[in-house]
Amino acid sequence: MCPLSRVSDGGARVVFVGDEHGRMRQEVDAAVAARVALARAQAELIRHHARVAELAYAQTAQIVSRSSRERDMPMRSVAAELGAAAHQHDMTVQKELSDAYDLVHRFAATVNALAHGTISMRHVSVIRDAGHRLPDEVRGAWESVVLDYAATTTPGRTKAYAGQLAEKLDPTGMTERFDTANGDREVSVEDLADGMALLQMLLPATLAHGAKDRLRRMATQTKNAANDHARNGGVEDARTVRQIEADIAADLLLTATPTIDPTTDRSPGGLGAIRAVVQIVVPVTTLTDTTDAGAMLNGHTPIDPATARKLAGDAPGWDRIMCHPVTGTVLATDRYTPTTEQVRFLRARDQHCRMPGCRQPAVRCHIDHNHEHQHGGRTHIGNLSHLCIRHHTLKTETEWTVTQRADGILEFTSPLGRTHREPPPPRVMFVPDTDPPPF
Ligand SMILES: [Zn+2]
Repeated sequence: MCPLSRVSDGGARVVFVGDEHGRMRQEVDAAVAARVALARAQAELIRHHARVAELAYAQTAQIVSRSSRERDMPMRSVAAELGAAAHQHDMTVQKELSDAYDLVHRFAATVNALAHGTISMRHVSVIRDAGHRLPDEVRGAWESVVLDYAATTTPGRTKAYAGQLAEKLDPTGMTERFDTANGDREVSVEDLADGMALLQMLLPATLAHGAKDRLRRMATQTKNAANDHARNGGVEDARTVRQIEADIAADLLLTATPTIDPTTDRSPGGLGAIRAVVQIVVPVTTLTDTTDAGAMLNGHTPIDPATARKLAGDAPGWDRIMCHPVTGTVLATDRYTPTTEQVRFLRARDQHCRMPGCRQPAVRCHIDHNHEHQHGGRTHIGNLSHLCIRHHTLKTETEWTVTQRADGILEFTSPLGRTHREPPPPRVMFVPDTDPPPF
């Protein structure tokens, strides 16, 4: 199926009967209001916890002993107190108390935003995780820029943006941090219930994403071959693509070459011939070794400059992208004419599925005609954007609509009439270092 000309098959659309539309709208409004109230209550809890921690630390300050266990006692005691009242383990509560203290003292603006209901508790967690390593003198400015963005989008996207911006401001270079982090690579097994265990590999991001992508391609091809086989009267393969991915991964690790390979008869090289595809964006200044800014993998994972330069050397071709010097928004690619170049441009601009909150990489998305092709929508970048299969289907099968405004801004309208404005993702990592940061 050509993703550019997807035609609705007339499947079931969501239809409201009688006053259902009004009732649904009321419930949705009430749920939105309850979330704001919840955020406020969580901010209040954080502030109470921070004050409890302050009092406990003040008691610690009175203790003459230098034993860390003894000095920890005031916190342990009050954590047990709160834990008993809330039916929580006291270690969990103690962690909450010290986290609350840290938030109130180092991320005061974030706690304020939570109190105003403009962000959720999950936003707070990703902001703290991304900003904790920044020195005090840059964290405040970083936090205010991140909060402006967080108020308009999901925790997932906030995490990517906050991480990129922290990357840019962190005085410790990416190369140094990667070298340290890469030293921790390992394989571990965690036992789970029901005879299962989790095999985990801590790897450089390029290897991990490449491996996962290759497994997905192998599993998809296996499933397709099995389906063809079943259609011709063969035995059906009941496994899902996810299950096949796990089976192939285990098979590869245990035998070095895949032994379950239904594709070898027709496809030379079979599964072993499948290569991973990853999407990497590298600033020219990193390629020329003039900055240590690193690069972005699949639109959200920062990778170190040395790996980026090595991959750049091996890549068969590159697309040059011009970015706005302050916002990092893509302005143009250097080979922009219709067809293949349009796809390049859209990939560079969108990076991932454009549905609010979704981060499925563009390479795994469909290109959607915002104004449907069969209703006269043009094949023009001003009417095209990436949507993952799930969200493309949602748009086709329900009353969700998308309108594209200037500069690639999308306006999503829900079946209840709520509109969501969705600007293309910012690329702060690729703003030249000679320019001032975006605040
Ligand atoms: Zn999506």
